[in-house]
Amino acid sequence: MESCYGRNDKETLIFPCAGASHVGQVTNRAAIELTLKGKGQMFCLAAMSARIEDKLKRAREAGRRIAIDGCEDHCARKTLELAGLAVDAHVVLTTELGMEKKPASPNMIGDSRRVVELAEQKMDQIA
Ligand code: SF4
Repeated sequence: MESCYGRNDKETLIFPCAGASHVGQVTNRAAIELTLKGKGQMFCLAAMSARIEDKLKRAREAGRRIAIDGCEDHCARKTLELAGLAVDAHVVLTTELGMEKKPASPNMIGDSRRVVELAEQKMDQIA
């Protein structure tokens, strides 16, 4: 799996909020799964906050930016927008999939599959 190296002007970049709660960690797993399925490239949300110029440039040049948020705080979407980056598709686990925000992880694999399915549906709509 590629990481935050390299460059492809028309690539799809996937930004999970990667929060500490179960739903936050599910976003991370879903982003890995989407990347392994060839749906896009998981990318560094923290680099957007830190204003790392080469990462910001790659994000600006991407064909599509996908934000996956664990909860209604929408940290991934807001981080991208604060960096001047529009979000092309947005997935929210609590409000769209009814997942609970909690510290434990009773069903990481099953929950992640549901996120991948919803993200793929939304990505197909903007293809
Ligand atoms: S969107 Fe929710 S789960 Fe994700 S980092 Fe923000 S507060 Fe945490």
